Amino acid sequence: MRTLLAWLVLACLLPGIIGATTLFIHEYREGRSQLKKDTIQTVRALAQAVDNQILRVQALAVGLAASDALATGDFGRFHEQARRTLAHARLGASVSLADSQGRQIANTGENFGASLPFHGSPELVRRVFDTGEAAVSDVYQSRVLHRPLVAVAVPVMQDNGVRYALTVTILPETLDDILGAQGLPPGWVATVFDSAGTIAARSRASDEYVGQKPAPGYYRHLMEADEGTFEAVMKDRVPVLAAFTRSAVTHWRLAIGIPQESLASRFNRRLSVLAAGIAALFAVGLGLAWLVGGRIARSFSALVPPAMALGAGKRVAVPSQSVKEAAEVARAMEEAARLLEKRSATLRESEYRLAMALKAANTAAWEMDVATQALHPADDLLFTMLGYAPGELATAGDWLARVHGDDRAKVAQQIDEVIAGRRESYRSELRLLAADGSWRWILSQAVAPERDADGRALRLVGTHTDITERKEAEAEIRRLNTELEERVQQRTVQLKQSNEALMLSNMELQRFAHATAHDLQTPLRSIVGFSQLLRQELKPRLDERTDEWLELVIDNTRRLQTLIQELLDYSRLDAQARPFEPVDLGEILGQVAATLAPAIGDSGAEVEGGPLPTVMADRGQMVLLLQNLVENGIKYNRSRPPRVTVSAERQDGEWVIAVADNGIGIDPKYHERIFEIFRRLHSHQQIPGTGIGLAICQRIVERHGGRLWVESRPGEGSVFRFSLPVGDQAQ
Ligand code: ADP
Repeated sequence: MRTLLAWLVLACLLPGIIGATTLFIHEYREGRSQLKKDTIQTVRALAQAVDNQILRVQALAVGLAASDALATGDFGRFHEQARRTLAHARLGASVSLADSQGRQIANTGENFGASLPFHGSPELVRRVFDTGEAAVSDVYQSRVLHRPLVAVAVPVMQDNGVRYALTVTILPETLDDILGAQGLPPGWVATVFDSAGTIAARSRASDEYVGQKPAPGYYRHLMEADEGTFEAVMKDRVPVLAAFTRSAVTHWRLAIGIPQESLASRFNRRLSVLAAGIAALFAVGLGLAWLVGGRIARSFSALVPPAMALGAGKRVAVPSQSVKEAAEVARAMEEAARLLEKRSATLRESEYRLAMALKAANTAAWEMDVATQALHPADDLLFTMLGYAPGELATAGDWLARVHGDDRAKVAQQIDEVIAGRRESYRSELRLLAADGSWRWILSQAVAPERDADGRALRLVGTHTDITERKEAEAEIRRLNTELEERVQQRTVQLKQSNEALMLSNMELQRFAHATAHDLQTPLRSIVGFSQLLRQELKPRLDERTDEWLELVIDNTRRLQTLIQELLDYSRLDAQARPFEPVDLGEILGQVAATLAPAIGDSGAEVEGGPLPTVMADRGQMVLLLQNLVENGIKYNRSRPPRVTVSAERQDGEWVIAVADNGIGIDPKYHERIFEIFRRLHSHQQIPGTGIGLAICQRIVERHGGRLWVESRPGEGSVFRFSLPVGDQAQ
């Protein structure tokens, strides 16, 4: 964090540093050119000062040239005058007077009258005589003072011509003083050069260099122009930046040399100030970055323990944060911890449920490391279900060794195939050796293994379920089934035998009943016939009681006949059954009404029929069915007139035929029982009957695949309903 911030500080400072450096270089260049300008100004001022000095000397010389002592040729007096003037003016070193040949007539450097050499600068003397004007010499060697000098010479005019040349010499030191008076910075060197470029004065080491030429490079630059700057090496081997100018009065040149070294040190000083400034800024920046970075780092470091706790699923205590972003991270961590807690709770819950479900299913989960074949159980149930100590069987090999010999090869092959990816999953019912030596049935299953990027199987996850009880139950069921089959076979044989016997006896019984009925009918018919004949024959002689007895005989015999007829009908229901055919129930009702015409006539009953369907049925039995129901409707009826209505409707794929009457009704508690044979709710005296009719009806309806039931209440009439299938009735 701190390193990053340090880089940040550097990055922030970098543009500043580049800017400052550019500015610095620009300013340095500006400063340098300004320095050159300033130095030229200074050198001009210096030239002015030197010129002034020369002019002052010239003025002194002009004054002396006008001396009357010269006009009169009194050179002794002139000598004296000149000495005094020099002493008084403190200008110039000596005054000399020379003729046109350069012979010196007087020289204040020597006593008057002493023999004098020729003038040291014959060229100066010649110029004065040639031009008749003042002239300034270059540096020359004085023959009187024996040292380098410069001199200003003026003409002494007599008779409109130049008579003498008056020379005032100047010691170069005088000029040195002028140069020194300028107060140049230390190290700077001001030099006066004569018109030939010879050093006339120098602000430093003047004695050494006056009268000499400067170094060649320097000299070349100096003489090149009237004014300017250049870089060169001075005579004393000091490289300098020089500024020079040429005097208009004396044509001398003045130069100021600034040592490059001092310039460099000036540059270095500024550079180091700049560098120090940048370093200071950087240091301050770094310091601040260190402090701020420390604060930020502390804030984030404080998040490390909560983050570790979060990862470990422990409770997260996030300290309060001063850095906003860290506080946001802290809040996010708290939220994450809360969500994690919620999810782990859900996960725990579902794990618990899964464990419970596995436990309830007596199932143990396992995981096998394919590389090492190590088997890791999800819990101890894997071992305990077989009575082993937890962890006792550690590898797939240990388990395989306990698989029943008959199952082992198949199991091993299946597992190999799943690992190799040749089959999707593995599921096998096998026998495993329990710790107590018994065999337990285990359902062993595994799904396709987890694989690495190259498709190599890493781990196989599966389950073991103890299915011993189921297997035992299955075996028991198989045993019972076999037993049952045997029993069924036995029973079937028995039943077949008894059925055959029954069929035989049924047929015999029917034959017997038929024969009996027939045999009974004949005598009964005789009894009725003869009783009626007897009654007719004896009518006039019969008393009332005997007549009643005879009638009772006839009545009871008829009743017996009806009973026998109905019993016969009942017993023949199966035997006389005919194949089903399309039967129009409306037509059947008409037939029934015709048969019942006497009863209808006696009671004044009304029999009505709605639209009735054609059904597949046994025609004769349909007649019997409707006749019984319609007759009962008329019979069990005290209403005047009795009304019986037959109607039909289609319900859920079948016909429901209703026979409704407005008769006496039936108590619901007898609704079931009236269909039993011989069951009557009235005595024969009240309403005659046999109790067989409804039993016949029920058997007919059942034979046709339908149902018969009644809806009725005492005094509210009855509705007898029966259903008949619609469609293929023939089966
Ligand atoms: P039976 O009419 O010969 O007595 P059934 O088997 O036809 O015999 O009827 C059995 C009994 O059901 C009758 O004794 C009678 O009490 C009752 N029953 C039958 N039909 C009706 C009806 N339509 N109304 C009232 N009671 C009836």
